[in-house]
Amino acid sequence: MANVGFIGLGNMGGPMAKNLVSAGHQVKVFDLVPEACAELKAAGASVAASTSEAAEGAQYIVSMLPAGKHVAGVYLGDDGLLAQLDASVTVLDCSTIDAATSRQVGAAASAAGIGFMDAPVSGGVAAAAAGTLAFMCGGEADTFEKAKVVLQDMGKNIFHAGPHGAGQVAKGCNNMLLAVHMLGTCEALEMGARNGLDPAVLSEIMLASSGRNWSLEVYNPYPGVMENAPASNDYKPGFMVDLMVKDLGLAMEIADSSGIENKMGKLAQAIYEAHQEAGNGKLDFSSVLQGLQQ
Ligand code: NAD
Repeated sequence: MANVGFIGLGNMGGPMAKNLVSAGHQVKVFDLVPEACAELKAAGASVAASTSEAAEGAQYIVSMLPAGKHVAGVYLGDDGLLAQLDASVTVLDCSTIDAATSRQVGAAASAAGIGFMDAPVSGGVAAAAAGTLAFMCGGEADTFEKAKVVLQDMGKNIFHAGPHGAGQVAKGCNNMLLAVHMLGTCEALEMGARNGLDPAVLSEIMLASSGRNWSLEVYNPYPGVMENAPASNDYKPGFMVDLMVKDLGLAMEIADSSGIENKMGKLAQAIYEAHQEAGNGKLDFSSVLQGLQQ
């Protein structure tokens, strides 16, 4: 078991930190929101008054923050954690941020002799609570081996994608593909329904045929087809449109910086942004079907 400093106790970080406590790690937490810290204290964590205090005595630092600027703010600069940590500490940033910032923090960590991994997750709040997240890691192989000691208590699939930033690239690739196959699935189901087909029967046909995909298999966007899917629960998330728009923005940054046009990804981004602007940001991302039904 390890001493872990955990920074960022929001919708994802809160349940992830709780799972580390349940697994027997000594967890010291910090968040700007006192209520979030109090919830972890009740779960058995100790509470720090700052990021530096959370890092004192830690063998691992785990962060789960909103965006690149927060991650850079916590780790970089004279006041940043990297300037304070000794080289024995392993730093795991699980936030979904731009690959450029992950590479920058990774390079600063390497210069200080500190093992750093970008380790964004797939799975959402339910998987964070269940401890079944998938981690996509970017960093050195020996840091990856050390990282497993804590990541395995928060997730069930842990991948080493490559060097610093590779975790963010893997996440961008995955979520761009998710957006595209969700949109394709919505279009196919709506087209079938408008031609008199029962969406449940059409789903069965496509699941046994070459249109099979994750959105159809476990997350059917048509209300009533799949009892536990957000579509059958007024599109309560699940995975919010706001987060999909954020992730598509990051994916398109990766595409642009690598000189790839990604027409499907850009189209998916435009469709999701329009859906968000129409007031659907807090709905599940499968609610994009509703845009086709108007
Ligand atoms: P959130 O907004 O609920 O939580 C972020 C937390 O970070 C907040 O509690 C905030 O107070 C805290 N914070 C911000 N700056 C801080 C600082 N300097 N020091 C300490 N705490 C600070 O966000 P979330 O939904 O938990 O998402 C976190 C990350 O996980 C994001 O990058 C998001 O894209 C990613 N993610 C979210 C989901 C999801 O379904 N929510 C799924 C996969 C990945």
